[in-house]
Amino acid sequence: MNPQTLFYVLIGIIIVKFIFDTIINALNSKHFNDVIPTELDGIYNQDEYLKSQDYKNVNYKFSLLTSTFSIVTTVLFFALDGFAFVDDLARSLSDNTVVITVIFFGIILFANEIISIPLSYYKTFIIEEKFGFNKSTLKIFVIDKVKGWLMMLVIGGGLLTLVTWFYQLTTTDFWWYAWILLSFFSLFMNMFYSKLIVPLFNKQTPLEDGELKTAIENFAKKVGFNLQNIFVIDGSKRSTKANAYFSGFGSQKRITLYDTLLNDLETDEIVAVLAHEVGHYKKKHVIYNLILSIILTGFTLYVLALLVGNLTLSQALGVEMASFHIGLIAFAILYSPISEITNLCMNALSRKFEYQADDFAKNNFDSKALISSLKKLSKNSLSNLTPNNLYVKIHYSHPTLLQRILNLKK
Ligand SMILES: [Zn+2]
Repeated sequence: MNPQTLFYVLIGIIIVKFIFDTIINALNSKHFNDVIPTELDGIYNQDEYLKSQDYKNVNYKFSLLTSTFSIVTTVLFFALDGFAFVDDLARSLSDNTVVITVIFFGIILFANEIISIPLSYYKTFIIEEKFGFNKSTLKIFVIDKVKGWLMMLVIGGGLLTLVTWFYQLTTTDFWWYAWILLSFFSLFMNMFYSKLIVPLFNKQTPLEDGELKTAIENFAKKVGFNLQNIFVIDGSKRSTKANAYFSGFGSQKRITLYDTLLNDLETDEIVAVLAHEVGHYKKKHVIYNLILSIILTGFTLYVLALLVGNLTLSQALGVEMASFHIGLIAFAILYSPISEITNLCMNALSRKFEYQADDFAKNNFDSKALISSLKKLSKNSLSNLTPNNLYVKIHYSHPTLLQRILNLKK
């Protein structure tokens, strides 16, 4: 394939994906006004229902705006040989290939971050604020951004340096080395994320003594989960939305409950949510996900190794010299239809795991308490009770509220 044709293929992939996403989102929005299924009656009163309709519409329009903005800037960047420009800039700053790669991605990612700041500001301080979800302040917002960038610089920069260096040393064999590195890294992050990364952004504390702790203790003992591994996180620092999750494995396993969840739910509802999270642990979902993602990473790196050194990839993006960073950009776009498909499968698996965790809570605690907690959580986040089926298949990592309730009532 000549570089010119490949250039149009790359642009074509980006545009087709944009059109596809836009159609799916529009399709989903057509169902905003559907009649709410009888199983979900009474979640919203009339005012809350209207508010949730408004919230869905505002978010839909906002995402249409951001995705349109992003496609226009991306296509312009391609058409104006933006990658060649940044490549020249990076080369003017260093002669070292590894350093050039790091500077190249540093510039691209940082520019992208800067452009997206107004959008994320608007999302937090205008939309979330208007609907009463936002608890963040400008100070927290800025500090979060800076911490995020520093983390990206240290971790992302470190990994990129090593992978590029492997490529310099071994060319086509680099994928093996990169695979081992990224597998160990993801194993490490899975284990220590809660201990090393979360504390940079949030406070985590053990459960306080009281009725809730006693109730949780009784349940934890019954199913053999150690109370020491249950933490409360100060999610209320940023948002009123509630959540809970299971993370890690082995000695580092833990369940994290948002303080907002403890405020919103009754004791038996909280235990039901906890039971669901223990279900994820008992069914080893974290381990399955980790193994799958390591296999997928290996496959992706293998295909990357086959293509990345190809001169045509670089020429398609206006750069006359085959280089790892330009090849990586072109590869990422060429590979994106495949990653769409793997995402689809991962979401399907994730929804299956959610059913399993719900079933665990049903069999070991109480399905009624879980149903009422799920209803409250949906209500408090103004969530969409009538999503489109196709949209759910593509984007939802959890089954819909209706699907979960029907499953719990089975
Ligand atoms: Zn879950």
